[in-house]
Amino acid sequence: MTDPLILVLDEGTTSTRAMLFTQEGELRGTAQRELTQHYPQPGWVEHDAAEIWDNTFACAREMVALAGGAERIAAIGITNQRETVVAWDRATGEPLARAIVWQDRRTADFCDELRYAGYEDAVRDATGLLLDPYFSATKMRWLLDQEPAVAMAASAGRLAFGTIESWLVFKLTEGAAHLTDAGNASRTLLLPLTGATWDQELCDLFGVPQAALPQVVDNAGEFGSTSLFGAPIPITGLAGDQQAATIGQGCLAPGETKATYGTGAFVLANKGRAVPRSRHRLLGTVLYQLEGERCYALEGSVFVAGSLIQWLRDSLQMIVRADETEALARSVEDNAGVVVVPALSGLGAPHWRADARGAITGLSFSATRAHLVRAALEAISHQTQDLAAAFAADGAEWTELRIDGGMSANDWLAQDIADLTALPVVRPDFVETTALGAAMLAAVGAELHGSLEQA
Ligand code: ADP
Repeated sequence: MTDPLILVLDEGTTSTRAMLFTQEGELRGTAQRELTQHYPQPGWVEHDAAEIWDNTFACAREMVALAGGAERIAAIGITNQRETVVAWDRATGEPLARAIVWQDRRTADFCDELRYAGYEDAVRDATGLLLDPYFSATKMRWLLDQEPAVAMAASAGRLAFGTIESWLVFKLTEGAAHLTDAGNASRTLLLPLTGATWDQELCDLFGVPQAALPQVVDNAGEFGSTSLFGAPIPITGLAGDQQAATIGQGCLAPGETKATYGTGAFVLANKGRAVPRSRHRLLGTVLYQLEGERCYALEGSVFVAGSLIQWLRDSLQMIVRADETEALARSVEDNAGVVVVPALSGLGAPHWRADARGAITGLSFSATRAHLVRAALEAISHQTQDLAAAFAADGAEWTELRIDGGMSANDWLAQDIADLTALPVVRPDFVETTALGAAMLAAVGAELHGSLEQA
């Protein structure tokens, strides 16, 4: 018998990937497809859930072929962009509307209403989160209010809501399983940090029917199997991308902290069994749940990081490729006074201003493209420093920062973060930590390894 392989399905914000790992964590292959971004109005971001599924299926099929057949694959691990909401019809398995993406700000007014009505403290104490459009519950409510097909399915008892891992498990199991892992569930505003399942009062506050929600499960275990690739393959690991990256970075002991620089930037510090209670506008979140026991994390979520570089490339056409930013930043001595405030989709932690918008200041005739690009990278370091201060104020001071994500390939940025935070910044040789974390969970769920530490 040859070594069992693990198939990871990584559904990111900008692309879908399927990756094949050995039990020892060696990468055997990758298939990738870009995902269409829909921006129907300023502040709105949507994905087509059918496209997400088609891309996932196509990438997975490529990896199954590379493995030499489904029988060679012992387990599937899924990791996903978090908070994004899909509404689908349980009977047909078809999406009822476009998925509302985590970056989407359309529910800012609803969040303000709830904040002015005095609900923020109670919501924060229960869920570890704040009243911000980032989280799933207000997106679900918007779909019920604004999409007739969603409201009709709800009255007919056929509505299923879920985040992306939930949608993929439903499709992979051909409708047999409707579930979500506790980590993903902890990003909805509907799961108390210390509660095993959805809270009725929170569901009532946001107007989300519990009947439409998935079952909350562990991050590793037997979640069903898929027969779409020839032979059945069990699905045994689930985790949101940031939780998976934290595990993949080996931040398994309390205090260990990682920062992922992708579309946004997300810092998570392992808090162990201690329920995180931030007083400086960080988030408390479930890092993972195994056999019903939770490990928590303190999180700082920054909405704009790599997307700022993408915007310089695609909207301003100031660069052709993201990696040009490194040489450009190095080519000048300083930022010549140029400062970029990267609030293109509001500000996340620790400011939480959905209404904030970006700014470029300090322009003079001596400012060049290189200065602007350098200032854009510096904006990422400044956001990191803001988080460092908030974590320290919450008693979770960083001693080193383990970085990953597409943007962490930029050596100039990594050094700038180290200079500004005055901390060692460590980048692993293998930067695909999100996929690795999902593979570790899948290996534990399939009992290929006895624990995350062993994995
Ligand atoms: P996600 O998983 O959120 O889709 P990735 O981790 O794949 O994102 O990172 C891609 C992001 O990183 C893009 O927004 C891109 O602009 C940025 N990026 C990639 N390489 C570099 C680089 N060398 N310097 C700066 N930014 C980069």
